Amino acid sequence: MIYNEEFETMPRDVIKSLQVKRLQQVLERVYHNVGFYKKSFDTAKVKPDDIKAIADMKKLPFTTRKDLRDNYPFGLFCVPMSNIVRLHASSGTSGKSAVFGYTKRDIEIWSELVARCLVAAGITKNDIIQNAFGYGLFTGGLGLHYGAEKIGASVIPMSGGDAKRQLMILQDFGPTVICSTPSYALHLAEEGKAMGMDMRSLKLRVGIFGAEPWNNALRDEIEKLFGITALDLFGLSEVIGPGMAMECLEGRNGMHVFEDHFIVETINPKTGEVLPEGEEGELVFTTLTKEANPLIRYRTGDISRLITEPCRCGRSHIKMEKVLKRSDDMLIIRGINVFPAQIEAILVNIEGLEPTYQVIIDRVGALDTLDLQVEVNDKICSDAGSIKELQKIEQRIAKDMKDFLGIAARVKLVQPNMLQKADAKIIDKRRI
Ligand code: ADP
Ligand code: ZN
Repeated sequence: MIYNEEFETMPRDVIKSLQVKRLQQVLERVYHNVGFYKKSFDTAKVKPDDIKAIADMKKLPFTTRKDLRDNYPFGLFCVPMSNIVRLHASSGTSGKSAVFGYTKRDIEIWSELVARCLVAAGITKNDIIQNAFGYGLFTGGLGLHYGAEKIGASVIPMSGGDAKRQLMILQDFGPTVICSTPSYALHLAEEGKAMGMDMRSLKLRVGIFGAEPWNNALRDEIEKLFGITALDLFGLSEVIGPGMAMECLEGRNGMHVFEDHFIVETINPKTGEVLPEGEEGELVFTTLTKEANPLIRYRTGDISRLITEPCRCGRSHIKMEKVLKRSDDMLIIRGINVFPAQIEAILVNIEGLEPTYQVIIDRVGALDTLDLQVEVNDKICSDAGSIKELQKIEQRIAKDMKDFLGIAARVKLVQPNMLQKADAKIIDKRRI
């Protein structure tokens, strides 16, 4: 089944000309309404008029995560606040995070994109969906929710966490679909098994997983544990949220990128040079229809490869391979994005610490763990003397990690110069 037959199966030449038309419109809009884009286009000596074909896009400057931060909170908005009906944000200490705005029409388009994803997974109005993506400022929860309502399915707005309750509802409400991060699904299966539940006897038949990298081995494992079909969903809040690309039931090899709403390019992350379709590189997205917060050539940091071969599902939109790598130092912990710089920003604000720290990330069972060791300075070491004082600092760090980044960290203070020799600040032991 295809949700929007007309647009999802459009011949490729028609998609391309639609993209050019929409690209020209969005370039005009950002050039005249967003100071940042006027400046960046002028600096690059490019005018919206200069872009006559997709191949001309390479003349346009990139938008980066730093640009979002520098324009925090609303500097990149293209419409007045009175037209904005929703705000989402990424986590971080203020000034380090980014805010994303949506007009009414943006929400409608986003809901349709998610509806397309659900239908591509064979989901209908007769399904009950347990949505365990995080609600709130994250885009995952509400993004899925609106799409599910759009196709008329019954949504259980669980949000993440509280495994026992999730399991109880899985048993009692009989959902046929679960949406979550893949690692959380695995965690639920393990908890369920420990409680003596037979996960395969639940009514679940499809799982939609995303928000973090997961390979086909993990897919096989989840499919076996629950007796379901597991499909990959991709998106990032900066661009719109989940629903930018979705694996189809028939193809199960790469995710269709909804090209009537986005242009996707792959670039060499070192040089910024555009790569031929099919070569592995960093994904760069341009939004074609977003009103509130359009982005031009946004560098995602995600590494993938575009698949141009036609898909047996009948959709004509290009596909992207599973994302398993990043071009930068962003970590994804339990589906939450964290940069080492954000951890540093928390540590510098706490008195008594040296800037030296080490983060060890691991996956124990199905769930990611984060251990943070931080050196205290000589002063605290000599005059505090009291263990209570040190415990207070540890608790403060753990609390700030939770409050600002949404991450549970096990914190341990160590003596000055203990970590000096450690050659890596971040040690990621997970095998994904
Ligand atoms: P999400 O709720 O999808 O995590 P965020 O904006 O918080 O949204 O994070 C987006 C990032 O999450 C992407 O840039 C990518 O690194 C990662 N991500 C999202 N979906 C997937 C997926 N299906 N596979 C791998 N990584 C993903
Ligand atoms: Zn397909």
